[in-house]
Amino acid sequence: MPGAVSAGLIGAEARTRRPGSLAGGVLAGVAMILVAMLLSSVVFSIVRADNSIRDAATRRAQSAIDLLSTLHVQSMLNRATLSDDDGATRAFDATMSAFSRDEGHVQVWMAMSAETMYWQARRGAATIEPPRDALDKAGLARRRELIDTRGDTVRIVRPVILGQGVAADARCVACHGAGPGALRPGQVIGVYSAQANMAAERAHWRRMFLDEVTWLVCVALAALLALSLWLRRALLRPLRRVERIALRMAHGNIDRPVESLATSHEFGRIGTALEQFRQALVQKRALSEYNAFLATHDSLTGLPNRGAFAERLKHLLVEAGTARAGPAMAPVGLSGTADEPPAALCVMIDLVRFKAINDRHGREAGDALLCTVARALRQALQPGEHVARLHGDEFAACRLVSQSEDIDDFLSRLARALATPLHDGDLVLGTGGSIGYALSPEDGSCVDELMGNADLAMRRAKADPHVAYTRYDPQSDEPSRTRVALLDDLALAVARGQIVVHYQAQHDTMTGTVVGYEALARWIHPTRGLISPAVFIPLAEETGLIGPIGAFVLREACQLAAREPQPVRVAVNVSAVQLCDPQFDRLVHQILVDTGLSPARLELELTETALITHRDRALHAMRRLKALGVQIAVDDFGVGYSSLEAINLFPIDKIKIDRSFVTTYDVEPKGRMLLKAIITIGESLQVPILAEGVETQAQLAFLRSVGCTQVQGFLLDHPRLREDLPLDECGDTAGVADVA
Ligand code: C2E
Ligand code: CA
Ligand code: CA
Repeated sequence: MPGAVSAGLIGAEARTRRPGSLAGGVLAGVAMILVAMLLSSVVFSIVRADNSIRDAATRRAQSAIDLLSTLHVQSMLNRATLSDDDGATRAFDATMSAFSRDEGHVQVWMAMSAETMYWQARRGAATIEPPRDALDKAGLARRRELIDTRGDTVRIVRPVILGQGVAADARCVACHGAGPGALRPGQVIGVYSAQANMAAERAHWRRMFLDEVTWLVCVALAALLALSLWLRRALLRPLRRVERIALRMAHGNIDRPVESLATSHEFGRIGTALEQFRQALVQKRALSEYNAFLATHDSLTGLPNRGAFAERLKHLLVEAGTARAGPAMAPVGLSGTADEPPAALCVMIDLVRFKAINDRHGREAGDALLCTVARALRQALQPGEHVARLHGDEFAACRLVSQSEDIDDFLSRLARALATPLHDGDLVLGTGGSIGYALSPEDGSCVDELMGNADLAMRRAKADPHVAYTRYDPQSDEPSRTRVALLDDLALAVARGQIVVHYQAQHDTMTGTVVGYEALARWIHPTRGLISPAVFIPLAEETGLIGPIGAFVLREACQLAAREPQPVRVAVNVSAVQLCDPQFDRLVHQILVDTGLSPARLELELTETALITHRDRALHAMRRLKALGVQIAVDDFGVGYSSLEAINLFPIDKIKIDRSFVTTYDVEPKGRMLLKAIITIGESLQVPILAEGVETQAQLAFLRSVGCTQVQGFLLDHPRLREDLPLDECGDTAGVADVA
């Protein structure tokens, strides 16, 4: 469940990290910037507005003071008398009182210093204005203009100094500086005090400002809303789609192509990358599915392979077994009635003539024929039936059957399918099948047993082309079973030291001396006892085991001969399979080097059939062996089909006449003639002739009479283990001398 696992991981990651929303973050950031901008602009506006309102109020107060001081001075200068009912003075006083009354806007008043008040009092002035507050007093004391802002008011206190500014005129000095209590120039005679009120301006500004801020906040909120909508559309939605697609793929749903994300250049690229990723996943899945398919199927025909077939057969056996063990248990065996419990039918098929077709028309045609047959077999199947290719041209089929008609129907459908010809241009290649079958539980209760027995039945069917299909029969299939069992055991025979070598002496016919030994392999089977090479050598040739077995015999024989003080030869049988191995001459060379045996003392026996069947390769191999200095003998001479050709073609050192000529020479006049003819050929070609299978004195006498050079047979010696060989007998003439 890789999808679930990755989904779990994604979930776990999401749980541990808990990231905030991207759009939320962006919006919060933008909102914070806007709020900061708004706040700083508010603060800046407030400070600026307050300054300008204060400045305006200050200017207003100053202007009022300027106006009043001008009017004051002017009235003082203009007036004719010192009385206060002077016209200019009245105008000034009127203005003054008007200013003083104007409480909402600006108020201006004058205050006199203590000296001036004293002076005024002495002069009998009607209005004497003392300082109104501490600020007026401070103005009088400090002699400089003071500006003070408190709450919504700005106060300006401007001192009037005699002899300076507005009080600089000579008449001012003359007026204030004469008489008792006179003031001197440089003395503060009073202050002009003005108080401007800013409350109205401030209220007005606040209203304006509130309107402005409201407007700005609305604009900012609208901008945030627009931004959030844009973020949602341009960022969030595509991101959610990316998330959905990734989760979909994480859950294993990779068949749906990635839909377009091209809302922006970047998302377009992410979409393309996701699609490429999906395609890579699809390819990977296809590859793993193909690998899984290959693990259970034959790559050429696409049919299930041996493993998959065994698995299906196993299921059928379980099904059949369960049905039999059920409440309605019926007797075993198919009687043809519809009530029978089901049995598992296992069928083994081997194509006929397939090897010939392959050899003649080539591997490609062979493969095409296998595919044709496989297709036909598959098409012939009905529900519940299975077919498989085991290897090469071997197929298998299985199903459950309840009555014998089921078997006939199934097998005849298979047989028809097997006969389906391959049409390749003008070429029509047809085959057929040898079919053997076995039924559970009588012919086997497990997969191996059932398949093995069906295979044995198939081998019997193969041997008899007239039989359509054969059921396994314990009696008839016993030889095949033994053979199969032997094949299994033979694989381990060399490693377990079960192959031993016996040696049979070869004698000179005239002198009776031992001229050599023939090495003959034996298999000491742990349960079956001694097994003849006539039985196991063909099996070894079939399975390729002849390689290690032949090498073992060759090494043993060479070791024995190398230790032997007399220069007798050792003859070793070489099968056609060994001869065709391109490495064979190297092996011989290596063994000669390892054992230290002179090549001239080693004689390799090759049957003429092997030589002629693999003519070119045999000739090539023989030349290389001859180059090593090894001797070559033709074994079983006379029973092959081209004896004379073999002598003519190959560089032969000895001819071994087959045993059949010797045993029948006295009853077959033709055999006697042939024996003589072969010996004459040997004499004329100066090739020594050895007669095999000499069992009687009469045979020996005859062979001697016709000039046969060497003899070998039970009369003179039986094959024996090396330990039992009378090695000191070499050169002994006992057996033959007796006869002589
Ligand atoms: P072969 O090469 O013709 O060996 C001679 C066979 O005749 C041997 O049988 C031997 O025991 C038997 N024999 C010898 N003298 C007499 C006799 O007087 N009368 C009768 N009836 N038989 C006699 P064996 O040992 O059973 O070998 C059978 C065949 O197995 C051999 O025939 C040879 O073709 C093959 N063979 C044996 N050992 C090897 C081996 O190491 N490699 C190969 N490739 N083939 C081997
Ligand atoms: Ca031989
Ligand atoms: Ca022979």
